[in-house]
Amino acid sequence: MSISPRRQSVGVNVGGVMVGGGAPIVVQSMTNTDTADIEATVRQVAQLWRAGSEIVRITVDRDEAAAAVPHIRDRLAARGITVPIVGDFHYIGHKLLTDHPAAAEALAKYRINPGNVGFKAKRDTQFATLIELAMKYDKPVRIGVNWGSLDEELLTRLMDENSASATPVSAAAVQREAIIQSALLSAQRAEELGLARDHIILSTKVSDVQHLIAVYQDLAARCDYALHLGLTEAGMGSKGIVASSAAMGILLQQGIGDTIRVSLTPEPGGDRTQEVRVAQQLLQTMGFRQFLPVVAACPGCGRTTSQTFQVLAKEIQDHLSASMPEWKERYPGVESLSVAVMGCIVNGPGESKHANIGISLPGTGETPAAPVFVDGQKVATLRGADVAEQFKVMVADYIEKRFGTAQKTAAE
Ligand code: SF4
Repeated sequence: MSISPRRQSVGVNVGGVMVGGGAPIVVQSMTNTDTADIEATVRQVAQLWRAGSEIVRITVDRDEAAAAVPHIRDRLAARGITVPIVGDFHYIGHKLLTDHPAAAEALAKYRINPGNVGFKAKRDTQFATLIELAMKYDKPVRIGVNWGSLDEELLTRLMDENSASATPVSAAAVQREAIIQSALLSAQRAEELGLARDHIILSTKVSDVQHLIAVYQDLAARCDYALHLGLTEAGMGSKGIVASSAAMGILLQQGIGDTIRVSLTPEPGGDRTQEVRVAQQLLQTMGFRQFLPVVAACPGCGRTTSQTFQVLAKEIQDHLSASMPEWKERYPGVESLSVAVMGCIVNGPGESKHANIGISLPGTGETPAAPVFVDGQKVATLRGADVAEQFKVMVADYIEKRFGTAQKTAAE
């Protein structure tokens, strides 16, 4: 399947970061700290931003959290971090934003869940209050439907209509339709209240891969709002990564999606920034964006019984990741670098030639020598116990020559 053209969507400015309208697909993430704990939240937002999150969402669930928002924004700004902060509101967002104008001002976007804005008559007035506040402070909103908190009245009505229909569809199809209608009807209501189309982003998250693909395909065909993609409750570890990548990869390939969040459950005590790295890797491996130099490494097999190449591949990957914040400033374009670390002569030289710089380590029974290729040409053969160090120096030299020159030229 070739890459489809990006779906045309109305661009939304989220605190200086464009979402949709042809802008690069944006990586975003969400904190799991208590927002009222200003220090912890500032620390985690900074970590997520440093990892590459271009928008960060925080929970705003009570007065203490809302009161903390402007302080969080200010402390981040004092550290030079101006990443847009999105407030995630459920049930009492209308009240919190009314009572805490400094929070309403500090946030770059409000996330509203139409399934829990309120019930019956209150729902309409509370939704209207949220939209009026968004207009007052000139903030965009994400109307984020989640099948775990779907509007029950809407679902019941559609289920009843389906039962009475001469050609009923499956309950799953009705549920998908309810999710889509909830998003579209809420967006329509927001526009009727006066919110501009370029202030609205939609999401319709479910936790099942096939349902997610079906819901977003349908939603994408029925509107031109910017879309936030995410598989909700994706889970932990490889399960969450694979499920999110499978679902979002297919949609992105079809041109659907303007911003993504990978909703991973961290291991106890685990690193929250994993969700940012996975989102970046998803976009990079599919060729949509470049964030980090790519290290191609073979999986290893019986031909290379030593762990040397595994260790080197990891060392190089870690070295590149750790150096990127500084390199991004010093070496414009360095994120396009490709490095190969291969385990033996079978695929080593060939793969190394495809990379900007590659090394083919000796396999079992091969001469203990590691040829290095630069831009497809063999330039050196490394020997000895410190092959890893020698190769790292060669990588650094390559970066300096290739990307350092670009920087100097640009500055001239
Ligand atoms: S390059 Fe060599 S060591 Fe690596 S997987 Fe292929 S055959 Fe095995």
